[in-house]
Amino acid sequence: MTITNANIRFNENGTPYATEFEDLYFSDAQGIDETTHVFVKNNKLLERWKEYSEPLFTIAETGFGTGLNVLVTILYFEKFMQQVGNPAFRLHFISIEKFPISHVDLAQALSLYPQLEQYSQPLLEQYPIPVEGCHRLSFLGGKVILDLWLGDVHNVLPKIENKPQGLVDTWFLDGFAPSKNPEMWTQSLFENMALLAKDQCHFATFTAAGHVKRGLREAGFTVEKQPGHGRKRDMLAGSIDKSAENLSRLPYFTRIPATMNKTPKIAIIGGGLAGANCAYALSKRGLQATLYCQDDDLAQGASGNAQGGFYPQLNAEAGHASQIHALAFNYASKLYKQLFNQGIHYSHQWCGTIQLAFNDKVASRYHKLINNQTWPESLVHWIDAKQATTLANLDLPYPGLYIPQGGWINLPELVSGLVKAADSKVETNKQLTSLERFNGAWQLNWQDGGHTDADIVIMATGSDSADCEQMSQLPFRLVRGQVENINSQNQLADLATVLCHKGYLTPAWQGSHALGSTYIKDDKSCDYRLTEQHTNLAMHQQALTKCDWIHDIQATTKGRAAIRCSTPDHLPMVGAVPESSIQTQKYHDLYKALPAKHYPQPINHTNLFMLCGLGSRGLTTAPLCAEILVSQILDEPLPLANQLLDALNPNRFLVRGLIRRQG
Ligand code: SAM
Repeated sequence: MTITNANIRFNENGTPYATEFEDLYFSDAQGIDETTHVFVKNNKLLERWKEYSEPLFTIAETGFGTGLNVLVTILYFEKFMQQVGNPAFRLHFISIEKFPISHVDLAQALSLYPQLEQYSQPLLEQYPIPVEGCHRLSFLGGKVILDLWLGDVHNVLPKIENKPQGLVDTWFLDGFAPSKNPEMWTQSLFENMALLAKDQCHFATFTAAGHVKRGLREAGFTVEKQPGHGRKRDMLAGSIDKSAENLSRLPYFTRIPATMNKTPKIAIIGGGLAGANCAYALSKRGLQATLYCQDDDLAQGASGNAQGGFYPQLNAEAGHASQIHALAFNYASKLYKQLFNQGIHYSHQWCGTIQLAFNDKVASRYHKLINNQTWPESLVHWIDAKQATTLANLDLPYPGLYIPQGGWINLPELVSGLVKAADSKVETNKQLTSLERFNGAWQLNWQDGGHTDADIVIMATGSDSADCEQMSQLPFRLVRGQVENINSQNQLADLATVLCHKGYLTPAWQGSHALGSTYIKDDKSCDYRLTEQHTNLAMHQQALTKCDWIHDIQATTKGRAAIRCSTPDHLPMVGAVPESSIQTQKYHDLYKALPAKHYPQPINHTNLFMLCGLGSRGLTTAPLCAEILVSQILDEPLPLANQLLDALNPNRFLVRGLIRRQG
């Protein structure tokens, strides 16, 4: 679904007004009081936070609008945390918006509330591009997470991965007045709210419309009329008594969390982008992991390139892979900028990426992508050869796609930066030989003969993944890639953006450019090869044959080769490590497509998780994948639609194979 921005004007008091719905986003000048009355007080948030025994309180909202409800709730939450002083307690928001307000309008709307600036500023910084799906934002150093889902509530709610015990502690039932927005206020909305609710979940809404009251009751909520705010006489609030467990959607893809105590010992195996991002995502929850790295420094494998191109892989159809790429790219881009602004240094350039339409076939694919309007212009747009030449500052007689938020990043510096920001302990020269369950924990056996215990293990092992016995049945694909280090020379020195075609070429950094890459399957050696240098240069000269400057390039220095770990569908594996043999037995009759309740939940290796198979796309996908993994481990709401989560599940190949099997 293409996301369109809200059509807004501001009234004489500066309050935003939605022209299509003919309704205000909040009461003139009284927005904060209204939110406080309707959603904070009538949901009894402060009282309930005090009594709440779990670490994470989840609020879901229909209609994010200007984010005022979210920001006001964060204000109350921060005050509450200062008084109560329970550092482990966190708040999770899920808010859904069909017509996101543009960045400019949002800034104007929120300028009405300078008292909320410390929260509205980070909201504006992280506010996503208009791509359908879940965008995860964080506030108060990760104490508050906001999953902003762009899409219609009716499409989004069934996509949110539910849990047997439900997900939501409180509903903010907002949205324009039922009379102005009848499509939203339907029975299926109330039923979905009940489905996602935990036992004793509360709700509040500004309206007292009769059909809303009846619909919520029918869905299982108790509903009481309460005094409304300002000129509104009544509003509704209530809760739900819900002891029955939710049925799993597709039981074999259920994401099972870790079993753990409050201070689990967490080991991350692997010192590349995957491991560093997991360490960082854990640290935002106050959890410190130890990173074990087999080399004598971090980022010596596929995350070792000095200039990694940063851009998403998009197709004309928004299939699962493209959706994941678009959402992950936006998430990574915000995270990297946030880190840098916090003083974490890594060399990079947000110089944009041009994907050149270097032949007719590619040009027609790119035209289709633009004509389908699958992706917003802020993510990708068409440029002609003249614009390409201007942007690249170099003669480029090809049109193409431009990704303005793209660029390049120094991977080893980024990895060290993430690990530093996470304040993780790093142990180098630790090569894992095996993993064993011992006394209810994992024993990590090292090459040097030593052992280490851990409650939770995350495998972020890149090209060594298949060497781990517990993951040996998973279909990893190893691909050798050699990247050249080209001395800056002649016109090439002027290159100002990342260029992609079959390969890629970056602007100069410290006097050289990265030019890559070869793609050799099932080759595990990392030696530098002159034959591949020729392949790399020839690939560029062929694709960019109309550019004079490409034919002059001399490779004078050596580059580097590394082994990337990919998968048959080119998407990462993110989740629990499956007990492949047991799952194959339990799901042997999946081809019969029996009702979901027939199938048990998956059996996985206890507390063993993985983030592997990033291929050469880790810069784009690793941050969101790490966030998904850590959310799963800690039993938090997940930042991606359920079908996209399934597309990342490590057991998907096994499941697909059994579904396809005949009798
Ligand atoms: N909670 C908001 C705030 O704090 O600013 C105010 C919400 S505003 C009154 C209603 C919002 O609901 C609008 O942003 C509108 O675009 C959104 N909306 C309306 N119908 C929707 C639907 N079917 N799905 C998702 N959002 C919807």
